[in-house]
Amino acid sequence: MTAPLVLLIEDELPIRRFLRSSFSAQEYRLVEAETAELGLRVAPQQPPDIVVLDLGLPDMDGQQLLQLLREWYRGPILVLSARDQEQQKILALDHGADDYLTKPFSTGELLARMRVALRHAARPGGESTTFAIGGLKGDLAARRVFVDEKEVHLTPLEYKLLTTLVRHAGRVLTHRFLLKEVWGPHHVHENHYLRVFMASLRRKIEQDSAQPRYLLTEPGVGYRMAAE
Ligand code: CA
Repeated sequence: MTAPLVLLIEDELPIRRFLRSSFSAQEYRLVEAETAELGLRVAPQQPPDIVVLDLGLPDMDGQQLLQLLREWYRGPILVLSARDQEQQKILALDHGADDYLTKPFSTGELLARMRVALRHAARPGGESTTFAIGGLKGDLAARRVFVDEKEVHLTPLEYKLLTTLVRHAGRVLTHRFLLKEVWGPHHVHENHYLRVFMASLRRKIEQDSAQPRYLLTEPGVGYRMAAE
């Protein structure tokens, strides 16, 4: 298998330098673009396996660039944002980004998120009817869920919420996305539905709801199912 090709769209040279050495140590191949325009030009020429995109670029709004890429690019896009861009992160996820990291981030964290995103992208779609994330196991065809070999009984909405998170394990899902998927497009602002159902799911699935192992909170953004 050839090494995955990363397209890094980032204007800050120190960050590119620093990532360059981490990526090569992990045997990723790397194409760098310091502007949005360059990124848009090289992406179709050499379709990357994953895109790492800085939202703060000098020549184009990162959200617009993300949408332009998403018109044709199906691979994972991981977004980098500055600390004061909380709203930007949510918007990016809703525009089709797979994940985000806030600067300054650790290389270890970035590489871990990239592995999850690449693994997710490599998985053949919709074929497996079973899942296992640590002690959390399920059979989607039989609609059964187990925690540490004990069956857990979920309401239809709890089940739908759980399976939506499982299908995207390792990825941050925004409140809006989850509300749309589980309750439908007319309920995307009903954040309290999510709080209530997430609390009941945690009571059934987590050993300690206050320190969840599986159903992780991304403060102000949404939720993430643990990847392992
Ligand atoms: Ca920047």
